[in-house]
Amino acid sequence: MRNVLPWREPVQLDGTMGEPLARGRFGEYGGRYAPESLVEACREVDEAFREAWADPGFRGALARLLAVHAGRPTPLTPALRLSQALGVRLYLKREDLTHTGSHKINNVLGQALLATRMGRRRLIAETGAGQHGVATATAAALLGLEATVFMGERDIERQALNVFRMRMLGAEVVPVTSGSRTLKDATSEAMRHWVGATGDSHYCIGSVVGPDPYPWMVREFQRVIGEEARAQCAAELRAGVPDHVVACVGGGSNAAGTFAGFADTQARLVGVEAEGGAGAARGRLGVLHGCRSLFLQDGDGQITEAHSVAAGLDYPGVGPEHAHLRDLGRARYVTVTDEEALAAAVRLARTEGIVPALESAHALAWVIRAAGDGDLPAGSTVLMTLSGRGDKDVSTFKELL
Ligand SMILES: *Cc1c(COP(=O)(O)O)cnc(C)c1O
Repeated sequence: MRNVLPWREPVQLDGTMGEPLARGRFGEYGGRYAPESLVEACREVDEAFREAWADPGFRGALARLLAVHAGRPTPLTPALRLSQALGVRLYLKREDLTHTGSHKINNVLGQALLATRMGRRRLIAETGAGQHGVATATAAALLGLEATVFMGERDIERQALNVFRMRMLGAEVVPVTSGSRTLKDATSEAMRHWVGATGDSHYCIGSVVGPDPYPWMVREFQRVIGEEARAQCAAELRAGVPDHVVACVGGGSNAAGTFAGFADTQARLVGVEAEGGAGAARGRLGVLHGCRSLFLQDGDGQITEAHSVAAGLDYPGVGPEHAHLRDLGRARYVTVTDEEALAAAVRLARTEGIVPALESAHALAWVIRAAGDGDLPAGSTVLMTLSGRGDKDVSTFKELL
């Protein structure tokens, strides 16, 4: 099975996690598989992003927003009691402490600022659990933009609090009634809607998925996680770089942003997927939402539904760059079960006083398992991105206690 590939020596590949190849390719993945009108809209986003990213004025404005509105830099917290119990030295990169409670805000502030620079007045977004929708509604309110958020009818029922937060922030939440009425359908619907609104609207994708330039643009907006962590590790660790860098993977944006800070080091990169949403570990080549990558499919090549207790990991595929990093052997992708993640969340709460998002608890569950079975040798240093806080998951945790 793919998720038990043995370690290869970490390779340092020039240009890994730099710009993609021509036409947004990461090896054989990526690309821009979209109707003609969206190909043009993506080209405009690509051009605007390249220009903005090379402009110190844009970078400075974004850095300031991240500092004064989102609460960056986030701390690096040594998990002292848990480290002692596990026999490793675990450090947590605290994205749970950002405004709105997860790393999603990093990407959304970047894209919202880009949208204003492009003269757009409205953001379109898809959302599953509602975290990306809330972040988008927040950035729109802050910058005086409108926000239209597509959300599956089933998710609307399950995530009433986030639906209310989006409406409180002035966003329009559009229920999606097609298909399984969850994230995959909401994404399709948002893209369809964008076709008719490219003149005045920017499509703000929530992860490192979708047509070029989104996978690398979103990774660049999340790179701040890895860059801050790299500097913080340099100050904290004798070797300067942790032995392992671990993050959970839904579409893969918090992991991509984290890995980007360490791609040129000897650190071993580990992406942790939900057992029922393991695009990188178990997916097959396919095309969905404008991009060629690895997706869960049935025998006929139909993309199947993901199932995870963590709504943010409930996506049937993975971003194209992760598929490529897997093929290169630069990162390794593993899976954990719902039960392991739930147990890890309780353990973190009780040893460190931090209630993590269920998504982030997947990354921790692997650390706990790997410290137990020797996959993480005693004394290893581990950096783990804690992608979000667990407030949104209390109704799930309630069942356990
Ligand atoms: C959305 C979300 C994720 C998964 O998204 P990625 O793009 O894989 O990072 C992980 N953790 C939290 C807290 C989320 O809200």
